[in-house]
Amino acid sequence: MASNKKLLVLPGDGIGPEVMTQVRRVVDWFDTRQAVGFDLEEDLVGGAAIDKHGVPITDATMDKAMTVDSVLLGAVGGPKWDDLPFEVKPERGLLRLRKDMQLFANLRPALCFDALVSASTLKPEVVSGLDIMIVRELTGGVYFGEPRGIENLPDGSRRGINTQVYTTPEIVRVAQVAFDLARKRGNRVCSVEKANVMESGVLWREEVSKLHAAEYNDVELSHMYADNCAMQLVRDPKQFDVIVTDNLFGDILSDTAAMLTGSLGMLPSASLGGIDAQGRRKSLYEPVHGSAPDIAGQGLANPIATLLSFAMMLRYSFDLGSDADLVEQAVQNVLNSGKRTADIVAPGSERISTGQMGDAILAELDRLAA
Ligand code: NAD
Repeated sequence: MASNKKLLVLPGDGIGPEVMTQVRRVVDWFDTRQAVGFDLEEDLVGGAAIDKHGVPITDATMDKAMTVDSVLLGAVGGPKWDDLPFEVKPERGLLRLRKDMQLFANLRPALCFDALVSASTLKPEVVSGLDIMIVRELTGGVYFGEPRGIENLPDGSRRGINTQVYTTPEIVRVAQVAFDLARKRGNRVCSVEKANVMESGVLWREEVSKLHAAEYNDVELSHMYADNCAMQLVRDPKQFDVIVTDNLFGDILSDTAAMLTGSLGMLPSASLGGIDAQGRRKSLYEPVHGSAPDIAGQGLANPIATLLSFAMMLRYSFDLGSDADLVEQAVQNVLNSGKRTADIVAPGSERISTGQMGDAILAELDRLAA
């Protein structure tokens, strides 16, 4: 028996706790049925932490996040906390996790399950079988660059300033993540910037090319301008395997890619940090969706995005690819059987609740593992 993995589970607000309840059932299933075991600790983040402690995440919770093997988060926020000052809003809990854990690489897969091909706004032949991964740089670039601000000009008009800035180490570490991922997938990386008009893009392209030549020349590397990439993602998304890009372009391109697959309730994500002295990479896994206060507490939420985030954790943090495959196969089979939560229900399919989706996936896991 391998040693237990230490997990911090932060369900958060709104539908976060509902979907996490179902994911915990799957974690328990692995704990009792498979070789991998989990020591799981649950804590508060977001509005739930504000209600209990007055802050969106406590120092004690942060300490746990820094020492566990991985963190699984639900979602934060909701109308109850909308009027709080920016510094103490629920979202600050998530931002602190990302900042203190130095999570610089955001992984957003866009995977189109066969059963949901019709949920995409694109033609079935364009999205069927789609499986791409966007790696977005998360802690640098124009969202953080200095100088920034809004200043008054002598003529009475104003000027807004943001600075796109990247250093060699910032580019190299996120490109390494992309190349390493590509080796576990289709072995192709497309690096995306605007080297035609931006110096930071020229540096990005040069550093990615240098790293490729030095350490990853077994991986196929191509380069693309961000505007062309946006077009190609809706024209022929299956041409891509791994896309690596900066914070701003990644923000936009990952949302574009996400919508190729239909529903927010299906989209997982991972954020990875540096490797520590023990050889462990800090990591946070969470669905792309928010706390969905409009449907919270009604059994309508789709737990699959959070469950697929757990599958990503198995694959990328614990190197348990076959266990991740098992979860994804169970999800696929349940969708093929026609069972759907409200967000992905289609004519002829059976509408089920959050808990029933958990039941169906557990039954499928039992069947697959038998
Ligand atoms: P949202 O993602 O919560 O919801 C958008 C729409 O998608 C809603 O109609 C919702 O019902 C639906 N939806 C989302 N997830 C679903 C699921 N799993 N199953 C079924 N339907 C689902 O975005 P929003 O409404 O803009 O934001 C609501 C709150 O969530 C806000 O307070 C916002 O700040 C917060 N938020 C948090 C995160 C996060 O925690 N990472 C991300 C985005 C938004």
